[in-house]
Amino acid sequence: MLFLNSKEAISYILKGDIEIVKKSNITLNFKWGEVFVHRTNSEIISCAKSQSYVFDHLVLMANFMQQFRAYIGNKGINITSGWRGVDFNNSLPDASSTSYHIDGLAFDFNVSGLTPRQTQKNFVGFAKQHGCEWGKNISFTHMSYPQVLANTLKTITKRSKVSRNGAFEEFIY
Ligand SMILES: [Zn+2]
Repeated sequence: MLFLNSKEAISYILKGDIEIVKKSNITLNFKWGEVFVHRTNSEIISCAKSQSYVFDHLVLMANFMQQFRAYIGNKGINITSGWRGVDFNNSLPDASSTSYHIDGLAFDFNVSGLTPRQTQKNFVGFAKQHGCEWGKNISFTHMSYPQVLANTLKTITKRSKVSRNGAFEEFIY
């Protein structure tokens, strides 16, 4: 198992070794390919070139998801949407134009053996402990990085809870 941190992942990508990166691990159970799920190689390369902070965020997110995985008894987690480039995000009819997915600070996911509703019931307790926000959807669960930590990241700009209220009706923090 090859583990790559954000700097290493970027360096491999810029050398042309993107396939190695996609197969390598961020944490024990989450790979780089999973946090870039559905994204094309050219989108990922462009992200590595111009938004390197996204890679740091994705590492934080994967670690957070790893903790949630333990919290629910090590069930498998399938990330259905991770980082999204601005253009792709804005092409989605239901996505907020200020979505944290653009910063690599939100994942949509499903848990093996649990319906989204059951997952969300489990997620409430975890979210309260860690100060994160989440969104309910009939077919997946959305989680964004714990606000308390996100606020310390300089790359998160001009987005406050206030400005996001419209986008997050189910905001719990
Ligand atoms: Zn989402």
